[in-house]
Amino acid sequence: MTDSTVRTVVDALDTRYPRSWAESWDRVGLVLGEFDHPVARVLCVVDCVPETVEQAVDLGADLIVAHHPLFLKPVSSIAPDTFKGRIVHRLIRAGVALYTAHTNADVANPGVSDALAARLGLTDLRPLAPAEGAAAGEGRGLGRIGVLPGPLTLAELTRLAAERLPATSAGVRSAGDPDRPIRTVAVCGGAGDSFLPDATRAGVDAYLCADLRHHPVSEHLAAGGPALLDVAHWASERPWLDDVAAWLREVFPVEVVVSDVDTDPWTVHANRDDLEIRP
Ligand SMILES: [Zn+2]
Repeated sequence: MTDSTVRTVVDALDTRYPRSWAESWDRVGLVLGEFDHPVARVLCVVDCVPETVEQAVDLGADLIVAHHPLFLKPVSSIAPDTFKGRIVHRLIRAGVALYTAHTNADVANPGVSDALAARLGLTDLRPLAPAEGAAAGEGRGLGRIGVLPGPLTLAELTRLAAERLPATSAGVRSAGDPDRPIRTVAVCGGAGDSFLPDATRAGVDAYLCADLRHHPVSEHLAAGGPALLDVAHWASERPWLDDVAAWLREVFPVEVVVSDVDTDPWTVHANRDDLEIRP
């Protein structure tokens, strides 16, 4: 096993998820941290937000591996009276380094959508949108297409997704005929509406992703596209943390904790049927 410092762990992460595989608009890699700082404990999170930062500090973690970038747009200040500035100050004071693998982890094989597909029991996986450029080849790409172990109706697949994915207030909602038979499924961790045409072209029976909206969904269904399942963004990417954690434990003599702090911004959900109306 390799000695674990911020530098060696970052180098290994960069090899597994090369920065050149990230989309051009993305910002990945080490955000902050001392290269020579030893790493004994790592916390894997989807979002680097105050709740997960406090979890890292409480655990005595030396490094946070996050999926979403803390900084995607340029900033002119990290003053401690800004939301992100407070996070930076808290991490540096507590000696916690921060690393991000985002679209470079989405496109990897195995990547974020493989972990999502595995939760649903999908097999025979292939990319929904094969990678181009630096990441092209070797089964890399965004989203995955796979086959269910046996056919399900859309209603059954919706319940399966709700059962197998981390629980959130938003839950899982689906669009299409509840009795539609589903055998082949496309999945994409995170916002996936840009791949609706790819899912239609692939001829899958259903497509599961996060952050779907009214008009793209209704127009997609009207054009005869696959049934759609909309899940919480956090829940779609949380499964990948188990994959990266297992790999880190294999490569380094470190303790790796996966955060189950639900960082999905949607925190309340009600159906009319759930309500107890009091006069
Ligand atoms: Zn995401």
